[in-house]
Amino acid sequence: MTDLEVAKNVTLKHISQIAEIFGIQQNHIEMYGNYKAKLPLHLIDKTKAQNSNLILVSAISPTPAGEGKTTMSIGLSEGLNRLQKKTTVVLREPSLGPIFGIKGGATGGGYSQVLPMEDINLHFTGDFSAIEKAHNLLAAVIDNNIQSKTNSLHIDPRTIGWKRVVDMNDRALRRIIVGLGGTTSGVPRETGFDITAASEIMAILCLAENLTDLKKRLGNIFIGYNYDKKPIYAKDLKAEGAMTVLLKDAIKPNLVQTIEGNPAIIHGGPFANIAQGTNSVIATLMGMTHSNYTVTEAGFGFDLGAEKFFDIKCQSAGLKPKAVVLTTTIRALKYHGGADLKALTVPNLDALEKGIPNLEKHLENIEKFNVAPIIAINKFATDTDAEIKVIMNFAASKGIKVALADVWGKGGEGALDLAKQVVEMVENNTSNFKPLYQWEASITDKIATIATEIYGAEHVDYNSKARADLRKITNLGLDHLPVCIAKTQKSLSDNPKLLGRPKDFIITVREIEIAAGAGFLIPITGDIMRMPGLPTHPASEGMDINEDGEIIGLF
Ligand code: ADP
Ligand code: MG
Repeated sequence: MTDLEVAKNVTLKHISQIAEIFGIQQNHIEMYGNYKAKLPLHLIDKTKAQNSNLILVSAISPTPAGEGKTTMSIGLSEGLNRLQKKTTVVLREPSLGPIFGIKGGATGGGYSQVLPMEDINLHFTGDFSAIEKAHNLLAAVIDNNIQSKTNSLHIDPRTIGWKRVVDMNDRALRRIIVGLGGTTSGVPRETGFDITAASEIMAILCLAENLTDLKKRLGNIFIGYNYDKKPIYAKDLKAEGAMTVLLKDAIKPNLVQTIEGNPAIIHGGPFANIAQGTNSVIATLMGMTHSNYTVTEAGFGFDLGAEKFFDIKCQSAGLKPKAVVLTTTIRALKYHGGADLKALTVPNLDALEKGIPNLEKHLENIEKFNVAPIIAINKFATDTDAEIKVIMNFAASKGIKVALADVWGKGGEGALDLAKQVVEMVENNTSNFKPLYQWEASITDKIATIATEIYGAEHVDYNSKARADLRKITNLGLDHLPVCIAKTQKSLSDNPKLLGRPKDFIITVREIEIAAGAGFLIPITGDIMRMPGLPTHPASEGMDINEDGEIIGLF
């Protein structure tokens, strides 16, 4: 059965029944139809939230197919609920563009899904559209200011870093010229489009704690310089008020349900390379307010999403996670051990053994944050008993907890062992979270700490643009911000070809971008894609809808 077919066989509860699990009456939620609702921010209680056990689901370095973190997060929360632990899964919202590219959604899979998956994967409650509008409003205001004779801030158009965004995989928009058509149609300048999930406003919305904080962060967006080399921020254009107006509903987290009728909160969707890669702080706090266990996910492998989750999000919001579930697949370990991408379903003990060092490095990294790890083997139908045993034996030799989880095939039932072990770990209080670095350290120290400790690099090189950026950031007084390193997810290094556990490599920082509104710096390593394209045969070719409104071929 396809994910959509599994999802269609579920009889959904009315969303007011899901809110009741939180003890929230129907008149306190804002319903979007029968199965989706927004939760107003007054339902967050920070003191109560501190008593919830926050569990982070991460993964080893992924293959292009993904390791199943979302699926694992959903399955684990079903498992915990089966153990009578009041649990909420809190996740990111999927981006629309990629849905039409290579088949596959971001709402879990098999018997571990959040529903209604068609809605969540498509327009959902309009949050991405609101972010897009707020982003493009600022872009329009910038170009309007350049056009203006009486209201001019004298922005040097060549210094403007703020582009436009759209939630579509549309490579033709990557680089464009705006302002063509003469004096009444703007001032020509080169710019481009990113996909909406890559907008700094997405990162801002996901770190903001309330409307006032959101507005302040929007005002701090760095735009570029004027001709006197003075920095220009969004607040200089008086844009932050109107942008916040556009985001008044998008800031509220969305309540939906899992296949087994448990609550799920889905909110925000920043990238895990150029941004922090996790759902909003507000959504996490909302989940924590209303449950004893809160399960959440950070994008890509532990080196990318989880490091940012800990050092940026947890430090920013004062969160203390109690455990990390490291999603591990046999197919990915075989890939790291040299097996061909097309042969990952073929049993291969030799490649599996050779791939184990990747898992080992991620486990060492988790311990650097003083959080207890547990390996969750995401079971695929093609895994053999002998292969599973290799990972079990490795875990035993290291004294690390491990559980085989068939969440995709069995939902919560398949996560019971994992859930029991997570509860045991939390109840034994094995974690005492500490961040890897202090925000006050120098920029180069922060980058070096992550590169050497987490990636395993020898040292960090800066090319001339990056060195100029370091000076620029120091002059702007922004060197106290945390760093959000943009790096490939395919390798622990910045070279996607170095699989397994690479050694003796150098990380090269090409440039350092400023996300002053979000409140972090983005050292760029390698090539980072902000506007994906579609494949030759996009998934959209197989999609249709009938007269009854039933969707076909979505996933
Ligand atoms: P991630 O969050 O790590 O990117 P997802 O949970 O979104 O990964 O899973 C990626 C894809 O793999 C999804 O299409 C999902 O349905 C599928 N998948 C995950 N786990 C399994 C499994 N055990 N067996 C088969 N397919 C799976
Ligand atoms: Mg995911």
